[in-house]
Amino acid sequence: MLYMDYHVHCQNSPDSSEPLEEICKGAIDAGIKEIMVTDHYEMFTDDFGRKAYQPEYLTQCLESVLQCREKFKDQLYVGFGTELGQIHLQPAAAAQVTKSFPFDFVIASFHKIDNLDLKGYDYHKTNCRILKERYLDGLLAIARTGDFDCMGHVDLIKRYAAGQGVSIRLEEDEEAVRELFRILVNRNKGIEINTSGLRQAVKEQFPSRTLLKWYREEGGTIVTVGSDAHCRQDVGKGIQEAEKLLQELGFPYISRFRERKLLQEKVMIR
Ligand SMILES: [Zn+2]
Ligand SMILES: [Zn+2]
Repeated sequence: MLYMDYHVHCQNSPDSSEPLEEICKGAIDAGIKEIMVTDHYEMFTDDFGRKAYQPEYLTQCLESVLQCREKFKDQLYVGFGTELGQIHLQPAAAAQVTKSFPFDFVIASFHKIDNLDLKGYDYHKTNCRILKERYLDGLLAIARTGDFDCMGHVDLIKRYAAGQGVSIRLEEDEEAVRELFRILVNRNKGIEINTSGLRQAVKEQFPSRTLLKWYREEGGTIVTVGSDAHCRQDVGKGIQEAEKLLQELGFPYISRFRERKLLQEKVMIR
């Protein structure tokens, strides 16, 4: 089995202080043969919020990826990706980014409602419904218009709610979630299994088994697997569990990307 981790961050991302070399060493320690570096690039409702995310930042990300790709070439492929947040808010700026850099892979994620990170909200019974609706609306807008390869951590909002003892489950919105998956499938876009939830209070990967099953039932086949590691020791965590889950749900393979193209050479699940 070729183990891959398609979602890692390093010190280029504002929320990580780990040098990419350390991330690569962590991958090699975990028996991973291919990683995708997906440092954050966030969009906001205006240009002001995006001040930390300028093209120079991605140039720096690319340089560190190319250095490590060469350095570890006998043990590991280091892919160049990005995790674009809220691309529906600034589609022109997002398109500029995706066409200006030689990405292997682009994840589209939804991290912020009204420019505030999901982890910044107080979750309680009275606001859960509206926050979940806003979250789902954001996912649908991204799915309909965005230029990306896979949608990131589809039911992420459950993480922050669970961290505050509140349950927010997208399973309660089956029709909207199935509609989301149908849009993704029609646009030939995938989803990821993001295993970071296994290391958090919610104790479950994103998305849940039920959501993965719905994605499959709607015709979805494109799935990548990533740890969302921000430090060396988390690289590769949960990858084997995720592959087992895909196998149980009847997914035939795990997808790989190069230069934004789905590779025909897939990793079969045995
Ligand atoms: Zn994310
Ligand atoms: Zn991430």
